[in-house]
Amino acid sequence: MTQTRLHFITSKEEAERIFAGLEAAFEDDGWPIAVLEVDEDRDIHEVSLYADGDIDEAEGRLREVLRSLSVDRPVEREELPDIDWVARSLEGLQPVRAGRFFVHGSHDRDQRRDGDIAIEIEAGLAFGTGHHGTTAGCLEMLEQVVEAEHPANALDLGTGSAVLAIALAKLSGIPVLATDIDPVATEVAAGNVRLNGVAGHVEAVTATGFDHPVFAERGPFALIVANILAGPLIEIAPQMAAHVRPGGSLVLSGILDRQHDAVVEAYVAQGFSHIATLHREGWVTIHLKPAA
Ligand code: SAH
Repeated sequence: MTQTRLHFITSKEEAERIFAGLEAAFEDDGWPIAVLEVDEDRDIHEVSLYADGDIDEAEGRLREVLRSLSVDRPVEREELPDIDWVARSLEGLQPVRAGRFFVHGSHDRDQRRDGDIAIEIEAGLAFGTGHHGTTAGCLEMLEQVVEAEHPANALDLGTGSAVLAIALAKLSGIPVLATDIDPVATEVAAGNVRLNGVAGHVEAVTATGFDHPVFAERGPFALIVANILAGPLIEIAPQMAAHVRPGGSLVLSGILDRQHDAVVEAYVAQGFSHIATLHREGWVTIHLKPAA
């Protein structure tokens, strides 16, 4: 099915209002809506509605919602290629080994070896094929932490393709909450969770901040892994401290070598101790523990 992305640029404050309006208006269509921060300093945000079917009608309805919110922004269209993203995502990519994990697409199922913890990923529109140094670093560090600590539950914040959540569920069989701010990612995540037979363990939820009720319902967490970026990781340090169990662990990634110290400092300020750092391709993965 052909999908069209209807998108426009707006401010953060306006984007939040528009997101709520669009969610209500397009709830029955089930069309993903995403807000992307383009430039934080200049307050440029992009809102996207992934529509299908009659695009003129969809755009008309979108404009109607914008009018009702007194928003006047030029709406642009992007035809998303009519290809099976799901099947294409890992095509041509080699499978990845990280610790005991073997991350592969459907075309490499026969390369699994005995003893592998195999994770089949169709990344589609979500990040997380295992090829990025941050994902591979997280996989390795998660294996070590799970083996040492046997956590009772986990949170995968910024789950993308759900690769890390699936890894945790397969490794330890614990309940994992997998969240993402991007509803498209959450959809891809839920698909991969089913594909890997761990739907009984992993719950994929779209959540923009820790005020979403699911964190209080499922938390606190014995293990939190977050492969997002240094900036947001520093910002959310206080909330991470509030949601990790005493004696638990944080595994943070998406951090460049030169951002390492700033991230560690932000977490030390929240009472965390730095346990270990893993370096991969210019990126670091950091293990932290809350003070006893
Ligand atoms: N966990 C996967 C994907 C990492 S990509 C892996 O390790 O390969 C980072 C993901 O985090 C993206 O899907 C992005 O939408 C999401 N994200 C970014 N900031 C976030 C935040 N503050 N809270 C939750 N998710 C966030």
